Amino acid sequence: MKKSIFVNSKIKKTISYYRRIWSLSHAQALLSWDMQVNMPKMGIKERSVAQSEISGLIHDFLINPKFVSLVESLKTESLNEYEKGVLRVLERKIRIAKSLPIEFVKRKSKIESKAVIAWEVAKKKNNFKKFEGWLQKIIEVSKEMAEYLGYEKYPYDALLDLYEEGLRMKDLEKMFEKLEKKLRNFLEKLEFYSEHPLEKEGYEKEKMERVNLNILKLFGFPLGKRSRIDISSHPFTQEFGINDVRITTRYEGFDFKRSLLSTIHEFGHALYELQVDKRFMFSPIEGGVSLGIHESQSRFWENIIGRSKEFCRLIFPILKRELPFIKSYTEEDIYNYFNLVKPSPIRTEADEVTYNLHIILRYKLEKLMINEKVKAKELPEIWNEEMEKIIGIRPKNYREGILQDIHWSLGSIGYFPTYTLGTLLAAQLRFYILKEIPEFYEQISAGKFSLIKEWLREKIHRFGSMYSPKDLLMKSLGEKINYKYFLKYLKEKYF
Ligand code: MG
Repeated sequence: MKKSIFVNSKIKKTISYYRRIWSLSHAQALLSWDMQVNMPKMGIKERSVAQSEISGLIHDFLINPKFVSLVESLKTESLNEYEKGVLRVLERKIRIAKSLPIEFVKRKSKIESKAVIAWEVAKKKNNFKKFEGWLQKIIEVSKEMAEYLGYEKYPYDALLDLYEEGLRMKDLEKMFEKLEKKLRNFLEKLEFYSEHPLEKEGYEKEKMERVNLNILKLFGFPLGKRSRIDISSHPFTQEFGINDVRITTRYEGFDFKRSLLSTIHEFGHALYELQVDKRFMFSPIEGGVSLGIHESQSRFWENIIGRSKEFCRLIFPILKRELPFIKSYTEEDIYNYFNLVKPSPIRTEADEVTYNLHIILRYKLEKLMINEKVKAKELPEIWNEEMEKIIGIRPKNYREGILQDIHWSLGSIGYFPTYTLGTLLAAQLRFYILKEIPEFYEQISAGKFSLIKEWLREKIHRFGSMYSPKDLLMKSLGEKINYKYFLKYLKEKYF
């Protein structure tokens, strides 16, 4: 047994109190996982009540005056790096919890639970009017929240910070501007294929399940021991602690890369949680640090590894064995199918070249909603115009346009940019891993993933949340997120 890393007596007291919050969050995680994987539809009403009551308990424990003053007293203690991480994470959690009045949190969550239902109906009926009023309410409560949270320059900064600690518009403005220009330039030069025959090939669920399990086995995913895989309509990863991290995937019966690459994506998220330093267990620094860093891990496995030539070569025999239609295709076909570039109005179907343009569009709209006085009713037209300008497609209807994503209906404004941060960082990590493991791609061809996993553990995973996202990158890579690596990667791949 390794010696404890927490030595300061006040820190020990803090962590022992925190165990209540940890346990409630653990229960909350199970309720939420179960809701998406097992729960009968009608259970939603009772489940929502239980979840909201537990959230209230977590909130109460967090702002308990005795606990708050204990955490405040840590500031004058001499703390080691781990303990400083605990202080940073708790200060942030307490600051956020204290700045939002209970009345506001309840009102906001009521609006969101109704807005998401309105969004579902609106999307199904392709009728924006049914959602417009709710979106307007979401914009208003988001602005209100920004005021409670506080910001220096732009209200949108307060929302960005919620999803990515320390992220500000000034980190994104120039980067997104240049990225947009370069990506549109790529699009102009690229030759498109309208479709690939493999997109139409149907599969049996049981066979595809075996493909996914075979691939997870190659990766060394600890199925049954510390993880499991289930099915849900939107794939996700749920961590309960370091020794129980679960993923889901989907089976639509055709276009098998959707199931396969989703599974690999979620594996990347799960590996991060599985490789956190075990001594962090039950403490506030246990989980992954931010959405952006998390997404860099999923994108690294999905894009950098999963869409590589070497990976296509590695899994070709598995595909051939399990999916009968593969007989009429080659490894090269699989690679082209995985890397098909075609401008589509739908973000979740986007390829590596156009994906970030979809995010930039949403970023522009979110700024208009939060920093400017643009109203919900004006947004569909702005969406369509921007879409035509940056991706070259005009959505045929609301479903293909402004109603496609669930995020805004859930009140998540400021979330989208983390997808791009993750995608860019994945390519940056590729640059650094190639420097230290030049045989990176040979390892993939050979189905050997332990060196790669170890490198990710060493540079990112083991730290959990002990450093802020920005500090973590400075410490591990010696620089902040830089979009140049991503552009270089695309250039090598497509030109
Ligand atoms: Mg993800």
